[in-house]
Amino acid sequence: MEEVEVLVVGAGPAGSTAAFELARRGHRVLLIEEHPAVGHPVQCAGLVSERVLALAGSRASVRQPVHGAAVFGPSLRSIEFRAPAPRAYAIDRAGLDRELADRAARAGAEIRSHVRFDGRAPDADGRELVRLRTPEGATTVRARLVIGADGVTSAVARAFRLRRPVEILPAYEAEYATSPGDPDQVEVYLSRSIAPGLFGWWIPDGRGGARVGLATHADGTSARASYARLLASLVRRFGRPLGTPSAILASGIPIGHVPRTATTHALLVGDAAAQVKPLSGGGIFAGMRCAQIAAEVADRALDAGDATAERLAPYDRLWRDEFGEEFSRALALRKVFVRLTDDDLDRIVDALRSSDLLATIVAFGDIDFPSHVARRLLGASPSLVRLLPKALGAWLSTSRDYRAPDLDFRPVRR
Ligand SMILES: Cc1cc2nc3c(=O)[nH]c(=O)nc-3n(C[C@H](O)[C@H](O)[C@H](O)COP(=O)(O)OP(=O)(O)OC[C@H]3O[C@@H](n4cnc5c(N)ncnc54)[C@H](O)[C@@H]3O)c2cc1C
Repeated sequence: MEEVEVLVVGAGPAGSTAAFELARRGHRVLLIEEHPAVGHPVQCAGLVSERVLALAGSRASVRQPVHGAAVFGPSLRSIEFRAPAPRAYAIDRAGLDRELADRAARAGAEIRSHVRFDGRAPDADGRELVRLRTPEGATTVRARLVIGADGVTSAVARAFRLRRPVEILPAYEAEYATSPGDPDQVEVYLSRSIAPGLFGWWIPDGRGGARVGLATHADGTSARASYARLLASLVRRFGRPLGTPSAILASGIPIGHVPRTATTHALLVGDAAAQVKPLSGGGIFAGMRCAQIAAEVADRALDAGDATAERLAPYDRLWRDEFGEEFSRALALRKVFVRLTDDDLDRIVDALRSSDLLATIVAFGDIDFPSHVARRLLGASPSLVRLLPKALGAWLSTSRDYRAPDLDFRPVRR
């Protein structure tokens, strides 16, 4: 029977980061990916922060630095802001996934694509026996630790009974090879009637085209039907239709709080652990950073020959130390956001058009920690707070003072 120390399930950004971090610490890692090729199909708009590039250790996937953003209300009145330095990067997402998997392979991880995690098999000797499915048939592998980086539907979470009471927002996105719009800015469309659970977006692809998408409520709202409404609105925005898309994707975005992300012989990282910003649905940065933390905890547990729940529990605490407060605040703010009507959203956009508030956004906007700027904006604008329920006032006054953490690239032992 094949034996590995660590089986990482899913070669997305979180899985490949975990595999890299453990392989470079000398562990025997097998990284499996159910699709035939890493990075495909792409299920992402590909907008990331500088932190993602730092974690990847490479800028090769960057297609377009983005300096500006425009936020549109339902009536298409907008607030636009522009920073002197890039605030985000439109990347080649498939390229990033391949790059991260290659880095894991160079560090010594073995990567097998077209291999699916298919559940656990009973085992008696303190290791996990895992069923894998390949095009040739079923097989089993024994592992001391399984890292579930298998995305929004996580079979690993189900197999290890790690409960995920999260909302999964249906998302729909299309890619256009050419598109009107400013290639140096992203656009966000707020509208209860079009994207009730989140927002719509237009993101330049760095090649003259764009990725246009939205996410809706997890209440059965059809993202595809909503997308048709978004396109109609974009005809008004751009003065012409966007044309025929070159690719379409339908997927889900997990929003919520997973109570436990570590158990005996298993850890969850990335979308599998709902490590996703509740205000924007972005998950690449948090997933990669949490995968680093998972690898640090796993490394110590494996060295001690003890991958029990107790030994792996610090992972839960450590990643929440970095992201817990931001996620909790953002979830609270999101509860308010999803109750706003189209009229409320228009009035908020109008209130934000004042130049002082624009300066606040430009100075403090951080796409990885958006609740930070939201709090400053609300603090700076009584008219905004008046638009929102009283609960928000309480949210503002009770939050601790808060600073987005700097990245800490600690040297690796060994
Ligand atoms: C429409 C859309 C747009 C988005 N845009 C952005 C954005 O602009 N910026 C941003 O930061 N985030 C964005 N996100 C979120 C982002 O894509 C995810 O947070 C991120 O991909 C999570 O990374 P991950 O490694 O956890 O999971 P994934 O990237 O989903 O990778 C999981 C991998 O596991 C594999 N897998 C699944 N099940 C199995 C199995 N049983 N066996 C083997 N392999 C398996 C999958 O094939 C996949 O390759 C977007 C999401 C959507 C849906």
